[in-house]
Amino acid sequence: MEPSELLSQARSRSTDPADPLETLSAAITLGEELSRDTDALLDLAVRDARAAGASWTAIGERFGFSKQAARKRFSPPFAGRHLANRRKKRDAACSFCRQTPGPRSHMVHGEAGRICGACVSLASDIVADLAKRR
Ligand SMILES: [Zn+2]
Repeated sequence: MEPSELLSQARSRSTDPADPLETLSAAITLGEELSRDTDALLDLAVRDARAAGASWTAIGERFGFSKQAARKRFSPPFAGRHLANRRKKRDAACSFCRQTPGPRSHMVHGEAGRICGACVSLASDIVADLAKRR
């Protein structure tokens, strides 16, 4: 569609077509809608290309960017490696305080979960207090 046609469309949506600023507001909204439509169009076309067996390299070439950029832009968010890493990290976290393992927080692994050093220490204090009360 020609830009002049789009401007006419924005003008027809404007709350006051005689006011250029109202037309500008309508044009901004229209532009955002077109941009969302463009994104949806490209998502569908990429999905079809992937379903037909096209590689991320080939898809990236068509856009003029790298395989990594193509995959990052168009992969479904839940299939992302980033999320898989986060899930992996969460699964390795302390079952009590959710602290993730690191150089300064060691984990004791059990049958059904993990406990970090800080929680072992806290649990030990609690057990010692309970023992003193008896
Ligand atoms: Zn903990």
